[in-house]
Amino acid sequence: MKTIRQNFAVSFNYDVAFTEGLFNPSNKLFSSQIQVTDNKPLPKVLCVLDEGMLQYHPDLFDRIRRYRDESGSRFQLIGKPVIVPGGEASKNDPSAVQLILDAIEEADIDRHSYLTAIGGGAVIDVAGYAAGIAHRGVRLIRVPTTVLAQNDASVGVKNGVNVYGKKNFLGTFTTPHAVLNDFEFLHTLDMRDWRAGISEAIKVALIKDAVFFSELESNARLYQQRDMEAMKSLIHRCAELHLEHIRTSGDPFEMGSSRPLDFGHWAAHKLEQLTGYSLRHGEAVAIGIAVDSVYSHLAGMLPEEDLERILELFKRCGFDLYVPELEHKLDQPRQKESILHGLEEFREHLGGELTIMLLEKIGKGVNVHEIDTKLYREAVGVLKSFEKEPA
Ligand code: NAD
Repeated sequence: MKTIRQNFAVSFNYDVAFTEGLFNPSNKLFSSQIQVTDNKPLPKVLCVLDEGMLQYHPDLFDRIRRYRDESGSRFQLIGKPVIVPGGEASKNDPSAVQLILDAIEEADIDRHSYLTAIGGGAVIDVAGYAAGIAHRGVRLIRVPTTVLAQNDASVGVKNGVNVYGKKNFLGTFTTPHAVLNDFEFLHTLDMRDWRAGISEAIKVALIKDAVFFSELESNARLYQQRDMEAMKSLIHRCAELHLEHIRTSGDPFEMGSSRPLDFGHWAAHKLEQLTGYSLRHGEAVAIGIAVDSVYSHLAGMLPEEDLERILELFKRCGFDLYVPELEHKLDQPRQKESILHGLEEFREHLGGELTIMLLEKIGKGVNVHEIDTKLYREAVGVLKSFEKEPA
């Protein structure tokens, strides 16, 4: 038998930039990301726009056109943007991916052209998936327009769509060409979407950075008052911690079974499904983190005072921490509709051994490989009573 052993390493580089007024002609950030080659046709840019976002920014495409004309930017803007429904609807409906692929084909977008996705995390995930599979990967510029998309969903290497009722069942690991965060988009978010992204910041603070957790505690009231400076700081630090993890964890493309950044997500993904996606991803993550934190405490890992601080912070930020679906078919974990089936779906998604992140203290996560279902039921009970307590 003969074997040729293949081995090579590739390094990935991309900027995650923060700005305001991305498409003001004086702002050079967007055009600086487009690579122009002498004596070659100007690169093409095809935009994918989130319909929900567009309601609040109806002149966005005109502004992009003006930007191209007035900023000296050198690219060919494809005249018709692709508009896909905002939110999870776009990840649940296969026609959204198809629409983007059709437009890529029609506009002759090649691997040196750019798909620019502008919207919430869901639309960015769908566009990223289409960009990842067309020609085995066209360049993707992400322009996230929600808190959660800016501080988490857009900064990393994953994209995906939901199939078989399962979150992100189809997807690829592909790095973006660039991530351009424009804080101005955040002004038009409704309160739910403004708040939802805070849960991902709480998550990453809990597993990695106790000092950041204290900052979130100090600023909780400011987030409620929609203080933009406080939110910018939250987004920046949260994005930085996610990027640092991807860069330094040794497993950027999640080949192993451990996925610390998905703390609280096994229950969250199942809750999104069980509630028919009426919960925002970030809202479900808040509940998932809360239940796993209570569980961590009941399992003897997390001190009581830390648990109190965690639940208190979520409440002060305005999150609800209990939905009846948390108890759905609790005693029938093998049934697909059981909340506990989320554990198996999570394991399946990662492959290998079930690995769930829990908490040892604020700022430090710990991996476990089993969940005691009796204790989980107790944890749900604690959360339910906590929710009933007067604020
Ligand atoms: P979302 O994409 O569902 O958007 C929520 C709503 O906000 C939608 O109705 C959308 O149309 C609207 N919207 C978007 N921008 C707006 C703006 N500026 N003004 C007004 N309305 C606006 O929610 P999200 O929280 O941004 O993203 C959640 C998604 O991100 C989930 O599908 C989740 O699975 C995914 N996600 C992906 C990753 C990843 O690594 N790929 C990580 C975390 C989350």
